[in-house]
Amino acid sequence: MNFLGEDSFNNKSIELTVNEYKLILELISRKEIDGSISVKPTQVGLKIGYDECLRNLRVISKKAASLGKFMWIDIESFQYVENTISIYLDLFKENSSTGVALQSYLRRSASDLLHLIEKGANVRLVKGAYKQSEENAFQSMTEINSNFSRLTRMLFEDENRNHIFAIATHDPKLIDYAIALSQEFCTDKKQFEFQLLMGIHNELKDILVKRKFKTCEYIPYGSQWLPYSIRRIRERKRNILLLARSIF
Ligand SMILES: Cc1cc2nc3c(=O)[nH]c(=O)nc-3n(C[C@H](O)[C@H](O)[C@H](O)COP(=O)(O)OP(=O)(O)OC[C@H]3O[C@@H](n4cnc5c(N)ncnc54)[C@H](O)[C@@H]3O)c2cc1C
Repeated sequence: MNFLGEDSFNNKSIELTVNEYKLILELISRKEIDGSISVKPTQVGLKIGYDECLRNLRVISKKAASLGKFMWIDIESFQYVENTISIYLDLFKENSSTGVALQSYLRRSASDLLHLIEKGANVRLVKGAYKQSEENAFQSMTEINSNFSRLTRMLFEDENRNHIFAIATHDPKLIDYAIALSQEFCTDKKQFEFQLLMGIHNELKDILVKRKFKTCEYIPYGSQWLPYSIRRIRERKRNILLLARSIF
C-alpha cells in the first residue's frame, strides 16, 4: 500500500502521512492481510532534510516491526537517490524487514546494488519513472532493459539467501528472464517476489500465481492521484500513454 503524496515541505501534512501509514499498517495487521507498505522519502520529509526524513521513516518502521510487517522505501528523482540509500541502510540496521527500490535506468545502480548486496539488504528492482539527464541515466529502452537484466542477474547470483528481493516490472520479457534465472539459481521460489501495479497486466499476475511465484500488487491510494499523475506526465511524456491505458 502506498499513500499517494510526495515533495512535502509541510510539517502538518508530513505528520498526517506518518499517521496514515501507522493506521494502514494496523488495518493490514488486523485484517490479516499478507501485505506491506511502500513509502516515498519526500512525502515524509526528505525535502526538508535527511534527519527529518530518517526520523519519520523510523517511526513508521518501528510500527511496522511491532506488527511484523514489511516496509519498502520507494526511490524518486536522482537528487534523492544518495540520501535515500543512506537513510535506508541506517534503518536496515535497526529493522531488517525493510527494503529499498533501485532504478535500472540509472547508470549508478549497478554499484549501488553491489553495495546493498554486500550489506545483505532487501532490494526492489524497477526501471524508473522520473525524467533524468543523459549524464545520470540511460535514455533508450534497450539500454534500460539490458541494465535491468544485468541487475536481475546480480540479484539471483547473490549467495546470501537471507534477504529478499523483488522484480517489479510488467515487461513480459524481463519477467521470463527472471523466471529462467530462478530455475537456475533458486530452489525455493519464495526467495524473491514479483511486484506489479494494481490494475495493470492482471492476466500476468494470474499466470505467476498459478506457477507458484510470490506475486504482489502495489496499490497507491488517497486523494493525491491527479497531481501525482500530472507531475509524472510533465516529467516523462511516455507516462501519458501508460496513464491513458490504465484509465481506459
Ligand atoms: C511494484 C512497483 C513499484 C515501483 N516503484 C517505483 C519506485 O520506487 N521508483 C520509480 O522510479 N519507479 C517505480 N515503479 C515504476 C517503474 O519504474 C516503471 O516506471 C513502471 O513500472 C513501468 O515500467 P515496466 O517495468 O512495467 O516496463 P515498461 O516497458 O514501461 O512497461 C511494460 C508494459 O507494461 C504496461 N504498463 C507499464 N506501466 C503501466 C502503467 N502505468 N499503466 C498501464 N500499463 C502499464 C504496458 O503494457 C507496457 O508496455 C514501480 C513499479 C512497480 C510495478
